[in-house]
Amino acid sequence: MAQDANNTSQTFLLPCHECDLVSAVSPGKDGLWLLCPRCQHPLMRPARNDQLTPALAFTALVLLALSLLFPYIGFEKNGIERAMTISDAAMELAVYHHPLMAVVVIATIIVIPAAYLISVCWIHLSLASAKPLPGRLLLARVLPRIQPWMMADVFAIAALVSLIKIVAMAHIHLMSAFWTFSGYALLLLITVTRMNTVSLWSQLLGHLEQPAQARANLTAREQDLMGCQWCGQLQAIGRHRCQRCHGVLHDRHPLGLQRVWALLVTAILCSVPAHLFPIMVTTSLGKTEPSTIIAGVLLFIRHGDWPIALIIFTASVLVPFGKILALGWLCIASRRHTPLDMNSQMQLYRITEWIGRWSMIDVFVVAIIVALFQMGSILTVTPGVGGLAFCGVVIFTMLAAHQFDPRLIWDRQRQLIPPTEPTLEPER
Ligand SMILES: [Zn+2]
Ligand SMILES: [Zn+2]
Repeated sequence: MAQDANNTSQTFLLPCHECDLVSAVSPGKDGLWLLCPRCQHPLMRPARNDQLTPALAFTALVLLALSLLFPYIGFEKNGIERAMTISDAAMELAVYHHPLMAVVVIATIIVIPAAYLISVCWIHLSLASAKPLPGRLLLARVLPRIQPWMMADVFAIAALVSLIKIVAMAHIHLMSAFWTFSGYALLLLITVTRMNTVSLWSQLLGHLEQPAQARANLTAREQDLMGCQWCGQLQAIGRHRCQRCHGVLHDRHPLGLQRVWALLVTAILCSVPAHLFPIMVTTSLGKTEPSTIIAGVLLFIRHGDWPIALIIFTASVLVPFGKILALGWLCIASRRHTPLDMNSQMQLYRITEWIGRWSMIDVFVVAIIVALFQMGSILTVTPGVGGLAFCGVVIFTMLAAHQFDPRLIWDRQRQLIPPTEPTLEPER
């Protein structure tokens, strides 16, 4: 295979990761995403000499480091003052025999985002210095895989929900780490939206030669080809690993739908203890009061806090069950005729994939409240087994959404769309 690492501006064929249509792509204006003409999935953004993305990533890392050094939220109750740090949110869970939840919290808000930001800085340093720094290809492979598991923004929103929950119980102070962590969550979000793995691999290794039979405006599968879901390289069906990025290739996996069903069933099984058992237990002046998810929602309604009751109900009940139903329906729809057209099914899939991580709000609220309320016999909150089960519901539904192959939706559309060019969309 001839390799063209120096010329990344040529026209090349790019298969759509979500619908499998192959498009002829010629990099257009900087900042504009090329959209798939069939399903409107953002295919790529032309590679550019980008110094802003690593600068944002580095600033986010500095803000994260500051957030870990200083207290996050402080409060005062009955003359007793207390402050929690970000790491307390995980440590207190571990103290109360929930090490698994502690690992999930620390991984999703600190370890995985930090690994992502360091990788972005290292890869851009390699590109800017034109030196092949060690590990840059491995890190480029890791980036898209860990991206869905970064939840600093969800934690920042969970902190706001916790504040509304406890503002009537104690005098609250937002401390310096609250602002640095919010800045870090925002910069992380901007860094992620600026990253595009197809362009990144073009910059790192250029484009490999396309298979001779490859044509635009046909699906890859119709041409006995397969697109790498990580770097977009088009190659012959039958290879196990991508010839460019060495990521595992998969045409439609024969057991793909069974895996989605298995993960959905596991999520349903976890949802039973998640709603039956308390997510936290409050002990105040010798009185112990367990609180389930639904009891928490009802308490907010009784206090007249409708907006917060609605947020908790949506994140903890509507979204997880809606997601399970939507994914189950998509699995059935990919096998038989349904009244929804392909584009509506794709919208449903994209909403399901995007919204899932927001259910972690409830897990983070428990982590924050447990970390704050450790005041001995006056007021102590401990995590309940329902919280761990709910964490399982969120993780298994997210895994099910990632396991579902959206190309299955389009495989049932026999007739080909008329030939079109990829469209341009303004910067996101
Ligand atoms: Zn597409
Ligand atoms: Zn690849």
